[in-house]
Amino acid sequence: MLANDVLTLVPAGPPSTISQTVARVRAGFDRGKTRSLAWREAQLNALLRMLKQEEPRILDALHRDLGKPKQEAASAEVLECAMNVRYLLKNLARWMRPERVATPLAAWPGRSQIVREPKGVALIIAPWNYPFSLVFHPLGGALAAGNSVVVKPSELAPATSALIAELYPRYLDPDCVAVVRGGVAETTELLAERFDHIFYTGNGAVGRVVLEAAAKHLTPVTLELGGKSPAYVDRSADLDVTTKRLSWAKFYNCGQTCVAPDYALVHRDVYEPFLSKLVEAVQAMWGADPRLGTDYGRIVNAHHHARVMRLIASGGTPVLGGKGDVAQRYIAPTILRDVHASSAVMHEEIFGPVLPVLPVDSVEQAIAFINAREKPLALYAFAKDAPVCERFQNETSSGGITINHAMLHLTIPGLPFGGVGASGMGAYHGQFSMDTFSHRKAVHRRALWGEPELMYPPYDDRKLAWIRRLF
Ligand code: NAD
Repeated sequence: MLANDVLTLVPAGPPSTISQTVARVRAGFDRGKTRSLAWREAQLNALLRMLKQEEPRILDALHRDLGKPKQEAASAEVLECAMNVRYLLKNLARWMRPERVATPLAAWPGRSQIVREPKGVALIIAPWNYPFSLVFHPLGGALAAGNSVVVKPSELAPATSALIAELYPRYLDPDCVAVVRGGVAETTELLAERFDHIFYTGNGAVGRVVLEAAAKHLTPVTLELGGKSPAYVDRSADLDVTTKRLSWAKFYNCGQTCVAPDYALVHRDVYEPFLSKLVEAVQAMWGADPRLGTDYGRIVNAHHHARVMRLIASGGTPVLGGKGDVAQRYIAPTILRDVHASSAVMHEEIFGPVLPVLPVDSVEQAIAFINAREKPLALYAFAKDAPVCERFQNETSSGGITINHAMLHLTIPGLPFGGVGASGMGAYHGQFSMDTFSHRKAVHRRALWGEPELMYPPYDDRKLAWIRRLF
């Protein structure tokens, strides 16, 4: 075993271990190792190789942590990751080329370019709900942009974080990529170090802690947070299609998805048929007792199990589910009706398999309801009437929006993924990852002839008159 491996595999080392780890990857960056196209491509290809060779172990770890069904784990945490890395590889050489911009007459003779330079050492802190891909995805962007990286997987997904700590040093350049495992103490210690970018995914309370720590070193930060993402169902919606799509999006990964529809606002004219079709859709997907099948995930731990059960008890009448079994970390897919907007389930992000369904009288009322709350990470509008969809697109604010489906905007590599307001700041995926982890440096190169005498003293009115014409 290499000394590097010893450092990265230690779960919670003494303070010096974390400082030494950061110093090691900074030294790798300072030696200029990460800057070349060849190094970046080698790391991205190694990530692809890791996915291919280690898929069974990745799926196994995700099953142990979250009871993730094989298909959900394979598609969201392996295939989607691979698609993203292939997209980075395909475009990387082009993105690395300096980008020429127009030089105004006043600045002639000269040329102007934007040059993307790596920021330096990035810290990536990830949560437990997609514990493999939420480390992997930003890591791909940080490596593509030519950074050294320290990743801190979530301690609440121990099997996955142990696997990450084992695999990364084997596949990636250990001089420039390190894994630090641990919880609050280790993350606090990491945050005391100086980084050149911090990329945090998780809840907003810790997001504020990260932002405060970053302020000490004036480190730029990306915060990928959560919140209550609403779905609106119009009276013009196709209810068969809508309920099927919402059922999938809500109960995928047992509701533990940052962009899962948190609650549904349904036009009163279709409220009753919507509820009964939604129950049918859920049962068609996961069976009458999802606990018996292999397609339905589990809650990450007893603490979150108790939290979600408390939200179910906080208000509303279950038309489906409502029951849980903490020993199996199971909570049945739950649909609540007659939910009061003041209940806890309508105040806190649910992050579990519970969908409160509230009736609304109009599009205006739904938009006003959404706009009276924090800006969500995602928003979904289901309607056949195109102008209704347009209104949600134009009159609400959210990190992203999918119309007539849910969650899918984040699978498009050409779209930025990120929040706004309370749901986060900054974005990534595809070129947006490259931008997030790069500094876009302004470069202006002047010719040695064509001295701009007009700019220099001694000043006089004649020079100023010429300058006025040039600007
Ligand atoms: P979590 O408990 O795993 O915490 C996230 C990370 O923060 C972990 O690595 C953890 O070690 C660290 N952490 C926890 N407490 C800390 C502290 N006091 N100081 C420093 N670091 C600390 O995950 P979570 O926060 O429960 O994740 C769920 C939340 O994340 C939800 O709100 C969800 O919407 C959001 N989320 C957002 C996205 C996105 O892409 N926007 C994706 C997934 C989850």
